[in-house]
Amino acid sequence: MIRGSSYKSIKGMCVLSINFYSQSDGDVPMRCTEMLRVVFALTIFVCGSLLGMAMPAGALQARTQVVMLGTGNPNPTPDQSGPATAIVVDQQVYLIDAGPGIVRRVEAARLKGIEPFNANSLNKVFLTHLHSDHTLGLPDLMFSPWVSGRTESISVYGPPGTKRMTNHLEEAWSEDIYMRLFGLEPRSSTEGYKASTHEIEGPGLIYSDELVRVYAIPVVHGSWPAAYGYKFETPDRVIVISGDAAPSPILFEACDGCDVLIHEVYSPVGLESRPPEWQRYHRSYHTSTVELAEMAQKSNPKLLVLYHQLLWGVPDNLTDEIEASGYFGRVVSARDLDIF
Ligand SMILES: [Zn+2]
Ligand SMILES: [Zn+2]
Repeated sequence: MIRGSSYKSIKGMCVLSINFYSQSDGDVPMRCTEMLRVVFALTIFVCGSLLGMAMPAGALQARTQVVMLGTGNPNPTPDQSGPATAIVVDQQVYLIDAGPGIVRRVEAARLKGIEPFNANSLNKVFLTHLHSDHTLGLPDLMFSPWVSGRTESISVYGPPGTKRMTNHLEEAWSEDIYMRLFGLEPRSSTEGYKASTHEIEGPGLIYSDELVRVYAIPVVHGSWPAAYGYKFETPDRVIVISGDAAPSPILFEACDGCDVLIHEVYSPVGLESRPPEWQRYHRSYHTSTVELAEMAQKSNPKLLVLYHQLLWGVPDNLTDEIEASGYFGRVVSARDLDIF
């Protein structure tokens, strides 16, 4: 575990090293330049691993990458798409939630170098719950990749009610579907817009293939009868993601030293500006920095990634708030298109 002062000194060394290598290129002989390039790449990789930095695509890569497609929440913050995360293992893509803006964020990530993203690889999504901020991008995910050439249906996993949602979405876009299939548009696949929907009835293993095992973890989210976090086991990493959740011990038990814990969070400082009835709501639906610090201490993830940050106008001092609450592990407040 890297504590505060050690973290800052490692960060300082890394910044100095990266600056040195970046500036050294122009005035050294060729072979030396090549060596510096290798050392530079290694420096980026080691420092990124140590500090939990978002890694530039194309740096030395693990088989599994976590791509933060959208880190937002219901509030329309311009720089944050709605909640959506991709776990990319080799050439396979596993999406968690479908917040508004998801498909355009996928394309931005592809342009940033995440090669497996394409219309056909967007074929699996695991919904944590059916709140609109997590599902407004679902029609986007069903129809846009189809228009771009997806030939097979998309598998949608989610709590009870998901099937009704995907049925209604196909019905809502029925005019568009008809025109694309039977109008002048060059032949579209007759399957690519369809959702193959699987409702999750309880905790445990809900999906597996040759690369991942996915476990549903029931979390507390106010009045919702079913809301899930997920645990992904891949060949080289264990990743746990909360979705929206009030403190849920079962989620932290599932992590138990996992490689990456992606967790929603709110600032109790920001919460003070909210009316009492909203404070009551948020406390029963979400997790504060103070609560997250306490839970993470017991769970000890190698990297804690914050998303779905609720700030209500205060600056993002979430990592400082967590450290001030007694958690000194590696923690990052994620931004859209960060890669871990
Ligand atoms: Zn939400
Ligand atoms: Zn929610």
